[in-house]
Amino acid sequence: MIIIFLGPPGSGKGTQAKLLHQKLGGFYFEGGDVLRRKAEENSPLGKKIKEIIYQQGKLVPDNLMKKILEDWLADKDIKKGIIFDGFPRSLEQYQILKEILFKKGEKITKVIFLKVSEPVLVSRLSSRRVCSKCGLEFNLITKPPKNDEVCDSCGTKLIQRADDTPEVIKARLKTYFEKTQPLVDLAKKEKVLEEMDGERKIEEIHQAILERILH
Ligand SMILES: [Zn+2]
Repeated sequence: MIIIFLGPPGSGKGTQAKLLHQKLGGFYFEGGDVLRRKAEENSPLGKKIKEIIYQQGKLVPDNLMKKILEDWLADKDIKKGIIFDGFPRSLEQYQILKEILFKKGEKITKVIFLKVSEPVLVSRLSSRRVCSKCGLEFNLITKPPKNDEVCDSCGTKLIQRADDTPEVIKARLKTYFEKTQPLVDLAKKEKVLEEMDGERKIEEIHQAILERILH
């Protein structure tokens, strides 16, 4: 199965994608993580990506994403299934992915879109914290650390990511909806879209997703 998770930043799509991956197995492509790692590389490409995603709050160009995706897929047996989280993010990227899959005799099984209202998104995103040492993620609203602002796992002080400030959040949401709506519309036309209410409890959403996928 090839499953794409869609949803604006703060919709909980990463959490749901990981839960589904634990359930189904196969491969997991996390777009944001792949890009963050690239951005940390001390290379011209790394610096370019860093500037695009952190300072401008924009999306990485499609030709770069295509290259990154092709490299990632090169050594994988995709019959085992893939869950995509944070990619594709535009109609163009969706077409690129479909082409690459088609050449390998595969196609997209489902596109799961998590719907969450804008005030809820802004509130959730301003509450995100990450451990500066081990990278574990928390949310002061939805997934609070046991002790105030300190990592449950290693005890290090939690920080707010550079791309979780209000200005960047607003820029990201605007960019997200502008870029993603055409993809959502096409997936709907292709009858692979599953729209889900993303304002429910994590486990409830997970069960609802399983029902849509397995039945
Ligand atoms: Zn930690």
